[in-house]
Amino acid sequence: MFYQQEFDVIVVGGGHAGTEAALAAARMGSSTLLLTHNLETIGQMSCNPAIGGIGKGHLVKEIDALGGAMGLATDHGGIQFRTLNSSKGPAVRATRAQADRSLYRLAIRHAVENQPNLTLFQQSCDDLIVENDRVCGVVTQMGLKFRAKSVVLTAGTFLGGTIHIGLENYRGGRAGDPPSLALAARLRELPFRVDRLKTGTPARLDARTLDFSVMQAQPGDEPVPVFSFMGSREMHPRQISCYITHTNERTHEIIRGGLDRSPMFTGVIEGIGPRYCPSIEDKITRFADKSSHQIFVEPEGLNSIEVYPNGISTSLPFDVQVNLVRSIKGFENAHIIRPGYAIEYDYFDPRDLKQTLETKFIQGLFFAGQINGTTGYEEAGAQGLIAGANAALQAAGKEPLTLRRDQAYMGVLIDDLATMGTKEPYRMFTSRAEYRLLLREDNADIRLTAVGREVGLVDDQRWAAFNAKIEMVEQEQQRLRGQWVHPEHAAVSQLNEHLKNPISREHSLEELIRRPEMTYEQLMSIEGIGPGLADPVAAEQVEIQIKYAGYITRQLDEIAKTQRHENTLLPVDFDFSKISGLSNEVVAKLSDARPETIGKAARISGITPAAISLLLVYLKKHG
Ligand code: FAD
Repeated sequence: MFYQQEFDVIVVGGGHAGTEAALAAARMGSSTLLLTHNLETIGQMSCNPAIGGIGKGHLVKEIDALGGAMGLATDHGGIQFRTLNSSKGPAVRATRAQADRSLYRLAIRHAVENQPNLTLFQQSCDDLIVENDRVCGVVTQMGLKFRAKSVVLTAGTFLGGTIHIGLENYRGGRAGDPPSLALAARLRELPFRVDRLKTGTPARLDARTLDFSVMQAQPGDEPVPVFSFMGSREMHPRQISCYITHTNERTHEIIRGGLDRSPMFTGVIEGIGPRYCPSIEDKITRFADKSSHQIFVEPEGLNSIEVYPNGISTSLPFDVQVNLVRSIKGFENAHIIRPGYAIEYDYFDPRDLKQTLETKFIQGLFFAGQINGTTGYEEAGAQGLIAGANAALQAAGKEPLTLRRDQAYMGVLIDDLATMGTKEPYRMFTSRAEYRLLLREDNADIRLTAVGREVGLVDDQRWAAFNAKIEMVEQEQQRLRGQWVHPEHAAVSQLNEHLKNPISREHSLEELIRRPEMTYEQLMSIEGIGPGLADPVAAEQVEIQIKYAGYITRQLDEIAKTQRHENTLLPVDFDFSKISGLSNEVVAKLSDARPETIGKAARISGITPAAISLLLVYLKKHG
């Protein structure tokens, strides 16, 4: 039975990839259906209640710059905000927020329910309608058929999901949710390469049974950071602290004693887990010399008694979990509300995807999120937005949207996946990007909002706010370039207090900001020069663009150089070890990947622009 006429786009799954995909397609004017197991779990965080962090915060800002929901939902749901790496350069500064799990979910639900062109339906998708290698719709558990021009699949950890606690295991999509078995079986009939990955989560604790007085409190930053370019501090709920405690030798002894009943160490779990988010049993085995590991004690919400002990993810048997938790300072009387567990699930080799996230074998079928081998809400949201946008563009017969590696972390993420694939859960780091200085959190809107506007992802309100900001920044830059301070200027004595070398000739305000010891804020505090911009975001942009102009230009030159050599051929039997100056790791990576062109070599993760320069010099000399 066809319940409704054909949609342009159907999105399967209401997690982080699915909601961004559905919102993106609907924003662009496509009639869109979001089909998900359970409407109550739309926007649900399966694991830790936090958004952002290094590399991930960059993705959230990019999603936001393209009109996505994650940044604003975090501003509505964040209960502790921090800027990580705040003392380092702007490229690696990253925003992170502890989120109230239910406020975040409600904010996403609100966005979804108030999005024009978006229809919701609660049912499991059990089958895809495929005709002549083209997807034409989906079939639900009760046999309802929905037809569409494109389908975006975002089933997360649910495909063939198996939950493990000790040597016990059962089928599930995540704790409390059913697995997706019929769809997983159907997908295995299609010509995709499928494998298994695993991920895990810690036990959740009852806050009333913990002694916070012996833990170290960790308040958020002041002034409180804001995530969205359209966000504000006024959106934030009440802010609270997180806490820190540690594992100890006794904890590690208990864990070692339970390894013979660990599904990971007895070979019951075959899927590979996230290297950068290992379980506690993995950590104490891999880093056997460490006598203690840090645990961030994170509240799950303002009105929740649940606490998430970040750092002790485990799939050990429940009795071992109880003992290990109670061996930790402050947790001596802890009551576990939900056991920790690991989950194994199907994922598809992302090398079977185009850069648009459309599958190579079935036209109109897009994959996004955890099913592509990634881990994390932000990585899922980023893929969802791009897949949803491309599903909408294809349905409308328009050109696709792809982002380059020098344009966005989203471009890096998708290019890494589609070019190199992944054998372990892939998460974003700033080190994965070659052009970090260009891909900053602070300029995500400058990089992407116009791109989003062009394809219909960015609404009038965001577009107007963006243009007002850009105008403000440009006007201020012009003023700083055109206003001069000479040695007799009334403000000079005040100015010299901030400078290493007092000024002895005329300087523009722009030149003064370029000095490492001078900040925009300091300069503007001087009478006769300030007050400058009141908007701290625009002021930061002015300062970063001036201070880093030299480095940014150099990076733009490098990009131009690499693009010039994009199609320069590399011989098939090229011996990379002959190039002096290349590290063994780089030689190994190049020899393994055997790129046919310089462009392809440059896109291999870990191959730096410096390595490409050495390669080019060698080819020029010997080519
Ligand atoms: P999900 O958030 O899983 O959403 C999938 C959605 O699809 C759900 O709404 C589901 O109901 C729906 N769905 C599935 N199949 C169907 C179907 N057939 N029909 C209709 N609807 C369907 N991330 C980290 O970064 N670090 C971690 O340490 C970490 N640990 C994790 C531990 C566990 C136990 C789990 C479950 C996840 C963990 N994650 C972790 C991963 C994080 O939750 C995911 O990366 C993120 O949620 C992926 O988003 P997604 O949208 O791809 O999928």
